[in-house]
Amino acid sequence: MSDDEVLYCVNHPNVETRLRCSKCGNPICPRCAVQTPVGFRCPQCVRSQQAIFYTATPLDYAIAVVVGLVVSTIAAFILGQVGIFLALILGPVAGGVIAGVVHWAIRRRRGRWIWLVVSGCIVTGALVVAFYPFLRYLFTPQPVAYLPAFFRIDLIIYVVLAVGTAYARLR
Ligand SMILES: [Zn+2]
Ligand SMILES: [Zn+2]
Repeated sequence: MSDDEVLYCVNHPNVETRLRCSKCGNPICPRCAVQTPVGFRCPQCVRSQQAIFYTATPLDYAIAVVVGLVVSTIAAFILGQVGIFLALILGPVAGGVIAGVVHWAIRRRRGRWIWLVVSGCIVTGALVVAFYPFLRYLFTPQPVAYLPAFFRIDLIIYVVLAVGTAYARLR
């Protein structure tokens, strides 16, 4: 491509440019160009690349919900016993394990929103563990005169760290 060659952006026919998409070769203006590790790409090529990258099916999402809820509830039950200090250390580990198990269960396919599903499962699992004593209290025939604590700082720490790790793994 010579320096004085004048191209016009395929998306903005009035805009002159010297950039070309590194995949399809279409002229693109700086406003359209998306920087990728393999050079500037046009928005159309970036989208089709993402469509190939994200291969999770609706069934995968359903599996992610079920598996994620089971593993997250177990993780929250364990992390709810260990205290704040260990929750700080084990929170990211638990998030990584949950993300890993879900990723394995959907046969390592990727989905744009799988991280969100898993984060929801982590929060739900912690809520189940936090509110379980409260539910038991409600259904006790003669409730004792104290309310169980369901504001659990250890579980909140665990949730924040686990969600952060799961997001980084699955995004
Ligand atoms: Zn392109
Ligand atoms: Zn443009």
